[in-house]
Amino acid sequence: MNADAKPIIDFKRLIRTIPDYPKPGIMFRDITTLLLDPQGLRGAVDELMLPFLNMSVDLVAGIEARGFILGGAVAHELGKGFVPVRKKGKLPHKTIGQEYQLEYGVDAVEIHADAIAPGQRVLLVDDLIATGGTAEAAIELVRRSGGELIAAAFIIDLPELGGSVKLRKRGVSVHTLVSFEGH
Ligand code: AMP
Repeated sequence: MNADAKPIIDFKRLIRTIPDYPKPGIMFRDITTLLLDPQGLRGAVDELMLPFLNMSVDLVAGIEARGFILGGAVAHELGKGFVPVRKKGKLPHKTIGQEYQLEYGVDAVEIHADAIAPGQRVLLVDDLIATGGTAEAAIELVRRSGGELIAAAFIIDLPELGGSVKLRKRGVSVHTLVSFEGH
């Protein structure tokens, strides 16, 4: 390996799986173990942002809460600002909100109404895409603000839940690092 070569990181090995959390049948993909690992954290942030290094990006939006850690680091690396996409009721100033469907009921995410200026190019970041409902709501907020969603980047894809396909069908470019079977 020459000095410039990047080590190959096995991200899947660094992600801990907790069966039946938070409820029976769910395989919870816990990235806190990846975050603990210095090479894992740096490698994941690098891989999330690399496709966008030479693209014009104005802002990175991260979804509460793990998307704050990863999206904040990606924004820092790209030298851009960060927009927190928060759960309803957490932001202090005027907000716009978007509801999305959960298995039982609805939830909502919000951003500050003045966070994204019309025409700004936004990269969305979260740790994992499952059904894609949360990401779709966040994308809707970007678009309603007049922003241009250039891509959505996640460490983990759960392809059986169809979220990444759903986003791509809506014209969103989706970038993921690893995928796991099941829910
Ligand atoms: P969804 O809206 O169905 O795409 O769900 C994505 C959001 O829920 C992300 O913010 C994930 O952090 C979280 N999530 C969904 N399923 C899992 C899972 N199996 N393991 C860990 N987090 C999950």
